[in-house]
Amino acid sequence: MTIREHAAAAFVFLLGLFIGSFLGAASYRIPRGISIVWPPSACPACRARLGAADLIPVASYWLLRGRCRHCGAPISKRYVVIELLTGVLFAGVYAAATRGFGAALDWAGFGAGASLASLLLLMAVIDLEHMRLPDTVNAAGAVIGFGLALLGAGVVTPAHALYGAALGFLVVVVCESIVLGHSPIAVDRADTN
Ligand SMILES: [Zn+2]
Repeated sequence: MTIREHAAAAFVFLLGLFIGSFLGAASYRIPRGISIVWPPSACPACRARLGAADLIPVASYWLLRGRCRHCGAPISKRYVVIELLTGVLFAGVYAAATRGFGAALDWAGFGAGASLASLLLLMAVIDLEHMRLPDTVNAAGAVIGFGLALLGAGVVTPAHALYGAALGFLVVVVCESIVLGHSPIAVDRADTN
């Protein structure tokens, strides 16, 4: 790897940390029905609004020694873990999109891979905590995936993307109807969103 390639990989890792910071907040807010843009981040213990210095991925947690600067309440480690995981995932996607740092960056492939990695991580975190996958995140994934197919990212044509989405949806509906005895759509309407 040349110095330029090292710098590019480091930049992508940093980008992943910031996206991870957003994913951490989203993983807390989406299942609780809170907007992901409003209100601004606050300490869950003392409600003090967090400033830019409190929101630097990983560094803020480290500098504040894992505690709120206002009330000293411990900050959940999940946010740092999600930030670091996103950074590593982004670096991995970047490595794949440059064929092991050797080739020119496949921008469309990187965009598709980074979007998919972000969504899957968000889904996994929400699933771990709540044992469910919110419709809103699923739908966002479908829209992003179809949009990327329309733009020609990756190897999937728009028709294939639609076909795959329909097939995946059908498999889930049929399996859950058999297991639960009713449609999973009805379950989601009843206890979520
Ligand atoms: Zn606090």
